[in-house]
Amino acid sequence: VAYDLVLAGGRVVDPASRHDGIADIGVADGLIVDIAPELDRGGARQVIDVTGAVVTPGLIDLHTHLFHRVSTLGVDVDEACLPYGVTTSVDAGTSGAITFPGFRKYCVEPAVARSLAFLNIASIGLILDDQEELAGMRYADREAAIATIEANRDICLGVKVRMSKKVLGDLTLEPLLMALDIAETTGTRVMVHITRSKLPVRDILRLLRSGDIVTHVLHGHPNTVIEDGALIPEVAEAQARGVIMDIGHGWGSFSRATSDIAFAAGFRPNTISTDLHTFSRMGPAFDLPTTLSKFMSLGMTLAEVIAAGSMNAASAIGREDLGSISPGCRADIAAYRLNAGSFRFEDCHGVSWLGDQMLTPMLTVLGGKPIDPNRQIGSDGEEDLRGA
Ligand SMILES: [Zn+2]
Repeated sequence: VAYDLVLAGGRVVDPASRHDGIADIGVADGLIVDIAPELDRGGARQVIDVTGAVVTPGLIDLHTHLFHRVSTLGVDVDEACLPYGVTTSVDAGTSGAITFPGFRKYCVEPAVARSLAFLNIASIGLILDDQEELAGMRYADREAAIATIEANRDICLGVKVRMSKKVLGDLTLEPLLMALDIAETTGTRVMVHITRSKLPVRDILRLLRSGDIVTHVLHGHPNTVIEDGALIPEVAEAQARGVIMDIGHGWGSFSRATSDIAFAAGFRPNTISTDLHTFSRMGPAFDLPTTLSKFMSLGMTLAEVIAAGSMNAASAIGREDLGSISPGCRADIAAYRLNAGSFRFEDCHGVSWLGDQMLTPMLTVLGGKPIDPNRQIGSDGEEDLRGA
């Protein structure tokens, strides 16, 4: 047989290959091997008819909290992400150097879904959602962070630092400068949280390098990307030199008022992520396809939001084998029903509005294997899909 699996007859939307049209996708050995209007379905071990569905690369959620059962924020990735077509989830600094080995052993390794992580610059990580994890600079341990990144190269993408007023206390740029030094030393990247920033956002943006990530870019608390009613020019300047602007929606970090001004000024995020955690999961973020649909309601096209949740996120984490339905890529694929109707969306400040399209998950394929949403998945699941 030529294929282990053929996904037949769907509308394949793959921004990385500029593909938008009806096609069959052929999968073998966990990889995408063919994409064409009609493949030899007889030569396939399994055929799944996805006629009427929008078929996209498996989504990549760049900002999640996956330290389940340890952090108050942590969700179970296989339950909270995988059924929604999210095949790769990136934990945004829920663990630090002290807790990373436990995070790896008890959350990342047993999970079916592909899980990657940023290491919190604070060695204690984020056990509590409202903690001040740096305690001055007491828990900012440069050497331990570098050693942890070196020991976990396969899953650790860089360092996360929160620059909020509460976390910084009397500090100013010290944690960000240390994070940049750690990233520089390890050849990785910084993800910086700017919600409730203590400093003007421009002071942070100026320091970031190509590949560094700003998350919560459209938050609505003090020190946003808007000043005097206009988008600060440092945003476009940073984006032009390769700084990644990420949404990180969460339950407090997306404002319609901020986004309206930014969008009117021509701003578009590079990546759209949920900041999925115990609380944001209940709304207004809910899940990644809902968050992508929200950005369609703000004027982005289907191809743009899919790019922001797949290709651009893959590029931000240096994983060119993910985020595209092209021959040679991992066979991580999602299928959605693109429902038309009237859907209510809400920001994190109680502002709501209606949109007319919603991506509703139908099928997740991870490493070439369809995931049954009703199957009990997790560390004790009978079916071993790991190594995908
Ligand atoms: Zn977060």
